[in-house]
Amino acid sequence: NTARRKDTARHHSAVHLLDSALIKKLGNHVKQAGSLVEPNRLRFDFTHNAKLTDEEIKDIEIMINGWIQECYPVNTTVMKIKDAVESGAIAIFTEKYDELVRVVEIGDVSKELCGGTHVKNTGEIGFFKIISEESLSKGVRRIEAKVGMSAYDYVIKLEKTLNLVLKELSTNIDELPKRIVELKQPSKEALKSFRFEFDQAKLKKIDNCNFYIDFLDGDIETLKKYGDTIKNTVKEVVVVLYGKFEEKVYIVCMVGGNCKNYFNANAIIKKICSKFGAKGGGKELYAQAGVNFDKFNPNAIYEQSLYL
Ligand SMILES: [Zn+2]
Repeated sequence: NTARRKDTARHHSAVHLLDSALIKKLGNHVKQAGSLVEPNRLRFDFTHNAKLTDEEIKDIEIMINGWIQECYPVNTTVMKIKDAVESGAIAIFTEKYDELVRVVEIGDVSKELCGGTHVKNTGEIGFFKIISEESLSKGVRRIEAKVGMSAYDYVIKLEKTLNLVLKELSTNIDELPKRIVELKQPSKEALKSFRFEFDQAKLKKIDNCNFYIDFLDGDIETLKKYGDTIKNTVKEVVVVLYGKFEEKVYIVCMVGGNCKNYFNANAIIKKICSKFGAKGGGKELYAQAGVNFDKFNPNAIYEQSLYL
């Protein structure tokens, strides 16, 4: 039927634009490695070694939608294959070429050998949207995209799902990212009922003293409670606990038993602060600090120099 053929022509013509946009954005190494065109989607496989970034995908979409808005005419000419190749036309659809070939030119953005059915003008494509980008095999990526009403239907489906999520979480689109972070955090209430498990494996011998170093979800109060539990269990121990809560990381240091003869909680916290740009302090047996999560480096937690 005519509508289906028209939709297929829209998606097929968009493949030409996608090929050009990928070459312009990523480089001349991009070569077609396969494609599939249906009335409601297109798939394009191409040579490229890295996952496309969100920024690259956005730029490609903007480029193609710009070409669509320009309403470039699609011109087909029949010429000798030798002349076609010399004029710079590229073969994107692998097929056996006769002496005479069709060269499809879209404005000044695309020139390719192709025997397929195209729109007369890029404006007919309407709207272009990439819906996925993935690895197909080593050095080959796959993009799936939709154009025209199929792309519109896809956006509507996203909107419907989003509205469902917003309603369920009683929030709006601007507050949603913050709301998700909150949901992933344990609540203050949940932290209160959290039961600490003393873990013998977390005890480290540093300079003849037992150190108990741990990283968990929790605010200062949670860390103190946990620290007391450890001190009551081990006695001769230096406890250093890191707790993530909301957008911050809290750090407490507690010195138990005779460890006070060798270690000072305030000195340890000051060293940790200098490492992360954290702020805090305290006394010989107890000190605490806090730092924004984005400044925090979890890899440094077990670095021995922080505690000696
Ligand atoms: Zn074509």
